[in-house]
Amino acid sequence: MRLLLAEDDETLVAGLKPLLERAGYAVDVATDGVFAQLSAEAIDYDLVILDLGLPRRNGVDVLRQWRDARRAMPVVVLTARDTWQEKVEVLNAGADDYVCKPFHSEELLARIAAVLKRSAARRTPGPLTRGPLRLDEATQSAALDGGAPIELSSIEFRLLRCFMLHAGQVLSQQRLNEHLYDHATDHDSNVIEAHITRLRRKIGRDWIQTRRGQGYVFDTPEAP
Ligand code: CA
Repeated sequence: MRLLLAEDDETLVAGLKPLLERAGYAVDVATDGVFAQLSAEAIDYDLVILDLGLPRRNGVDVLRQWRDARRAMPVVVLTARDTWQEKVEVLNAGADDYVCKPFHSEELLARIAAVLKRSAARRTPGPLTRGPLRLDEATQSAALDGGAPIELSSIEFRLLRCFMLHAGQVLSQQRLNEHLYDHATDHDSNVIEAHITRLRRKIGRDWIQTRRGQGYVFDTPEAP
């Protein structure tokens, strides 16, 4: 899962970014409205956290531009003014949810998780279960057939969540990299492969098929 955090308040970014990363998201930061708008036009973010009071272009205008251009990624708005008029305005502009500043980080994380779940549910029924496999976001662990929890590293959790949200689709190593890491991280396709090998060892190797030269496909293994 790759998020864009569009926020110009450096203190807030310094607090939020590591928190979001610990929750398993790859996070890019945009500190003005123009850069935020261009970033989310160039990159397929799974979700955008959008401050309304951004320099150069305000958040509502950025959001309207995205929606006019048919960019449908979920957007959670951060607003400093707690008025019903502004809530109506951001929802009408196409926001999926909003959080008023100051907020508890737990509330923002819960709203992000809820919005992501809703948007995944629109695409595939039962977003975080696939056949007998279940992914628990709160504990970042998996379970098969309701069995004991399978502990996952943070990167394995991100990988599996990305696979489960795109089940049945070919995901290239580059696409997986984009979902797992932010700009600042040095990524290497051999590293992805090593994580996939470890994930296969934990959940069973038949869940993730390798397509030579294309990437990987995650799906429920066929019965033997
Ligand atoms: Ca601001």
